Amino acid sequence: MADTLKMFIDGRWVHAQDGATLDTLDPATGLVLATVPAAGPADIDLAVRAARRASDDGTWGSAVSERERSRILLRMAELVREQRIELAELEVRDCGKPIGDAYGDVDEVAFMFEYYAGWATKISGDIPPVGPDAMSLIVKEPVGVCGLIVPWNYPMMMAAQKMAPALAAGCTVILKPAEQTPLTALRLARIAELAGVPAGVVNVVTGVGNRAGEALLTHPMVDKISFTGSKVVGQHIQRTCADQLKRVTLELGGKSPNIVFADADLTTAIPGTCNGVFGNQGEVCSAGSRVFVQASIYDDVMQQMTDFAAAIKLGSGLNPTTTMGPLVSAVQRDRVQGYVDIGRTEARLAFEGQRPTDPALSGGYFVPPTIFEATSNQLRIAREEIFGPVMTVIPFTTIDQVIALANDTEYGLAAALWTRDISRALRTARAIRAGVVWINDSQPAPSETMWGGYKQSGIGRELGPYALDAYLESKHIYINLSN
Ligand code: NAP
Ligand code: MG
Repeated sequence: MADTLKMFIDGRWVHAQDGATLDTLDPATGLVLATVPAAGPADIDLAVRAARRASDDGTWGSAVSERERSRILLRMAELVREQRIELAELEVRDCGKPIGDAYGDVDEVAFMFEYYAGWATKISGDIPPVGPDAMSLIVKEPVGVCGLIVPWNYPMMMAAQKMAPALAAGCTVILKPAEQTPLTALRLARIAELAGVPAGVVNVVTGVGNRAGEALLTHPMVDKISFTGSKVVGQHIQRTCADQLKRVTLELGGKSPNIVFADADLTTAIPGTCNGVFGNQGEVCSAGSRVFVQASIYDDVMQQMTDFAAAIKLGSGLNPTTTMGPLVSAVQRDRVQGYVDIGRTEARLAFEGQRPTDPALSGGYFVPPTIFEATSNQLRIAREEIFGPVMTVIPFTTIDQVIALANDTEYGLAAALWTRDISRALRTARAIRAGVVWINDSQPAPSETMWGGYKQSGIGRELGPYALDAYLESKHIYINLSN
């Protein structure tokens, strides 16, 4: 019998007012893991009113010292570290990723709370010169009530990536995790409670996007929506939030290029390129799923990437020898499988891995690593985000040609390139229109740095000090000194 969990609103653990629930599944088996509330507009209204009160009466903003906010965030980091094993296993059960990756996620979550705990005491304004007879103060204030809507691929990381800077900035939050992966978000609520976050400051509401999420978007007491997810939902959010001119940060999808130049060190370029597409089952917004390989080394690289993919071991994420888990849901499996079918008609299937043979996993949502060879960047498998372990490889000859190919996409989240030539590396990095360019690596995103998309990959930036801007307003206070 799966657990029936409650959600966290105004410092209390509650069911949905109408009793509605939804099941979250283990994607390795398809079995029900737990039942959580399916929040509706009335529940969202309670959560938003609590967050509004905690923002307006200074429970978290003006009446709490920055030092106190910082201490509470540090306590959250400690609690995350104390619960490292439990949290990682919960994440694996809910979303399927390999356990080693989940430990990495949990460690980064703890660090995010530490990092933004440090920032809580360092947010300051400016005093621009305005002559002898006046003084101007630029002060930073919290945006207020923030709705945080996150996807299922890095459930806990995406939640912390928004929650930690929002809290450091003095905002109050309503977090809505994806319906497929609510469990670590609920644990984060418990951690906030244990750390001493006052009632109303952190609310975690489980539910589905077009009901719970929609109620957040349209609630007049919400000042800001920070969203990570698909482009289509991002567009809907921006349109909807325009009605009340809510502030919006969007972290959306990608179809990122990964360029292997002929002089690359293949001992790092091959695993880096492959992990950049197959890591986290390919459910990565910045996956380098368009692989461009210089023609003179093309056959060698194809052979080595195929060998790498063949060694990937699918299985339950809880098994320490597993290197690729199941996709998050049956819907996602079918979507990715649909793209594999499309790929067969428009490109050459160079490699397709094996599904797990363990009968206990027969109900799991596995899609094996798949590599297509193409000669055009116009194919659907080269243009549309697949969000699964599917690589499309395209040969190129010149640097100018590959820069044009890399930029020939509506997205601009990330790019990776592999070469030993520093001029070639930097020339290419500067020419690519994307929020991050990795040179001789793929995917690292340390929390101290920056994250966000060019073009249709998003609006705004997260991580580092840049994330704080998303949760702050700036006010000018002008003082006449002449009398
Ligand atoms: P999604 O379908 O857009 O869902 C993301 C979140 O939005 C979920 O919590 C979802 O709720 C909610 N939502 C759906 N409809 C909504 C509505 N009408 N109003 C308010 N909220 C709504 O995305 P996904 O399939 O979970 O995630 C995959 C996508 O996320 C990919 O496109 C990927 O590239 C992107 N992503 C981007 C980044 C980045 O940093 N740029 C990072 C990770 C993922 P329900 O799930 O409960 O319906
Ligand atoms: Mg689940």
